[in-house]
Amino acid sequence: MPAVRLYPIFADLAGRSVLVVGGGIVAERKVAALLEAGALVTVGAPDFTTNLRNWSGSGRICLISGEFVEAWLERRWLVIAATSNVRVNAAVAAAATERFIWANVVDDAELSSFQVPAVIDRSPLVVAVSTAGAAPVLARLLREKIEALLDPSLGALASLADRWRVRIRGRLADLGQRRRFLERLFQGRVAELVRRGQLAIAEAALEQDLEQADAQPHGSVVLVGAGPGDAGLLTLKGLRALHEADVVLHDRLVSREVLALARRDAQKIEVAKEAGTHHTTQDGIHELLLQHARAGKRVVRLKGGDPFVFGRGGEELEFLRDHGIPFEVVPGVTAALACAAYAGIPLTHRDHAQSVRFVTAHCKQSLDTLDWHSLAAERQTLAVYMGVAGLDRLRGQLIAHGRSATTPVALVENGSRAEQRVVLGTLENLPTLARQFALKSPALLIVGEVAALGASLHWFGAAPLTTAATELRRAA
Ligand code: SAH
Repeated sequence: MPAVRLYPIFADLAGRSVLVVGGGIVAERKVAALLEAGALVTVGAPDFTTNLRNWSGSGRICLISGEFVEAWLERRWLVIAATSNVRVNAAVAAAATERFIWANVVDDAELSSFQVPAVIDRSPLVVAVSTAGAAPVLARLLREKIEALLDPSLGALASLADRWRVRIRGRLADLGQRRRFLERLFQGRVAELVRRGQLAIAEAALEQDLEQADAQPHGSVVLVGAGPGDAGLLTLKGLRALHEADVVLHDRLVSREVLALARRDAQKIEVAKEAGTHHTTQDGIHELLLQHARAGKRVVRLKGGDPFVFGRGGEELEFLRDHGIPFEVVPGVTAALACAAYAGIPLTHRDHAQSVRFVTAHCKQSLDTLDWHSLAAERQTLAVYMGVAGLDRLRGQLIAHGRSATTPVALVENGSRAEQRVVLGTLENLPTLARQFALKSPALLIVGEVAALGASLHWFGAAPLTTAATELRRAA
């Protein structure tokens, strides 16, 4: 079976000849809908309802009296069979198919070559719902839901946009600019005024907005936290920003799943700062932000985890502030929270840890400037954002400052992603563990009693890796 069972189309029936076979109440309903669409309707049947006869009397439709014959189908675009006689309906469908005419048999999906969907009418806005005949009741329920969702004023709003279409296009030649203008139109004060039924004021507001539309392109930057990888951890606000973005400047840490959520024709630029990849300096990133914002673009600066946790988000905002570029910040789930959650390691726990510290140890310099004395304190959890290279040094310092060598640790590689690996051990054998399992970046280290809980509370992906302590000592 093909993936889409019915190909959706909206047919322009204005001035086109359509045949309805049947003269009862069902046929009458179909005729009324066809007349609304401007179709030229001919109705064929032995008898007709009073309404059908009246419509014929006033010249709105043509009637043919008698039993169905194939000649009725001559020069029709569509036919609807609405008789209560299964045999006649089948004959209509068969004759239509032979002539390549689209046929709908009321309440008979099998015989129909097209179906009429459930419709939510906010003309000119129309929403059509179909289940391809699989679950008509579901379609009806959905229709009711959507009815409630779509404000009745939407039709008036769509008509307003239609009336102004030519002027808007004349004023805003650039497609992106026009799209932004219309998005504001449909969500901003004009839409609000139409909702309140103040059409004239709405129109005046639209005129004013249009006049000012190209005065100064308003670029802006949204700093968005992409989370650790699992796209489900992106916030709804982050998702909206990605949908609206013209340009996305992203780090290498941002997962492909999250990037795929950005607007399809948004320009996506990777600015990698990680070792071993091509290098964009922080200044280079600032310049890119400025350049695109000044060009009037909506820029999303997409960062792994949370932009304010070891993400240099602060520096970027200071730069934007100094250059008068408006900005917003959308937080993200930072690696410490995500890795802990996805490894089944509660960062705090009444019995084991009353505080948690987020620490970065990405280079020798950052390792040397840490306050090891306070980091080595008991009953606290350390979440260390780091390259895996500094583990030897970290272990040495913590033990030298009094943390027990048997303190549990966890290394979480690719936290929240399909390829996540968790390694559990003790502070003493930490560097050996990392070597033995060839841990790679991005990885987060958790130090503290809570790390041991990962052995029993893990729930995501593969079970945690461990090695017996004696073996580890030998390996070391
Ligand atoms: N702003 C980010 C952190 C950037 S620093 C955040 O809030 O998460 C980069 C470090 O974050 C990596 O070296 C690694 O230690 C950690 N990290 C980021 N994503 C990770 C992931 N999915 N799994 C494990 N560690 C991760």
